[in-house]
Amino acid sequence: MNGLPKKLGMFESATLRLTAWYTALVMLLSLLFSVVLYGVATNEFGRALGPMRPGEIRMFLTDDDAQRVRTKRLEESSNRLIVSLLVFNLAVLAGGSVLSYWLARRTLRPIQHAHEAQVQFASDAAHELRTPLAVMQTEIEVGLRDKHASTAGHAATLRSNLEEIGRLRTLTDLLLQLASLQELPRDTVSVEAVVETALAHVQPLAASKQITLESSKMPYEVVAHFDSLADLLTILFDNALKYSPAHSRVMVDATATDKWVELSVADQGIGIAEHDQAKIFERFYRTDESRSKENSDGYGLGLSLAQRLCEEMKGALWVKSRLGQGSTFTVKLPRKVV
Ligand code: ADP
Repeated sequence: MNGLPKKLGMFESATLRLTAWYTALVMLLSLLFSVVLYGVATNEFGRALGPMRPGEIRMFLTDDDAQRVRTKRLEESSNRLIVSLLVFNLAVLAGGSVLSYWLARRTLRPIQHAHEAQVQFASDAAHELRTPLAVMQTEIEVGLRDKHASTAGHAATLRSNLEEIGRLRTLTDLLLQLASLQELPRDTVSVEAVVETALAHVQPLAASKQITLESSKMPYEVVAHFDSLADLLTILFDNALKYSPAHSRVMVDATATDKWVELSVADQGIGIAEHDQAKIFERFYRTDESRSKENSDGYGLGLSLAQRLCEEMKGALWVKSRLGQGSTFTVKLPRKVV
């Protein structure tokens, strides 16, 4: 709770430090410029008002008078130049600090946003981890307190704990995948083969809900990372099955243009309201409709991982959906033309 103001203070002081550095740099350049300018200018004044050269006409003044006038003029000019340079440097200091502050804020803003997102992510992750841990703790405590618990009772506690551990593993796997995502080496990938691999992962879920998985012919190749594309499609298939009623259909299709292949996964499920369609790609976001279903074992991380994988493969991912009527997720990837 006390963390946030401290973090804000941290960025405020970093902004001020950076402002000071920028201003110091601007002032250094300005002072350097002033010194050089002063040197050059006084030299020029000296030459312009210097002793008379042979051939120059002497008017009324004696040599001494002329020298006095020259020295006075030189002094006046130098003083005026010093005042001008002083005013100039003060103006640079004022303008430079305002500009430096603005620049420092601009420089640090993306870092601050990334930092805030990181803090938010860590706190969301911890929150999600706490729930299964708390359930397990309570069950074990109750089991230990119950002196007359039967073996069957203990077995039930263990089974339930095992389920929670399964949830924890899924969550930590997803978190790890999100955290360790790096640039993916891309290769030629057969769409047919990758779709088949992903379909195999979700076949048991489709069978248990008696949902028909239909896929059309996909004689295309894309530039992608096979395992990551298989993961991405598995997330989409898994969601399509999770958020669809039993006995419905999930259709997988592919179309191609010269440069792109679009893979779509369409379901006849609960659909996604218009205002939720952009948010579902954010980490930990789940719609109210999906929470109220018995399919409550999601974490809201799948689609954000899917989108990251897609971006890493230079593709795009979007959804078209109508609440209560189903959703179509589309993945667009660069086509490998043979
Ligand atoms: P989750 O583990 O909750 O499914 P995701 O990031 O995969 O996490 O999805 C985020 C949310 O988007 C889901 O909780 C659900 O509300 C919504 N969603 C995703 N896919 C579908 C779909 N095919 N039909 C309806 N809602 C969906």
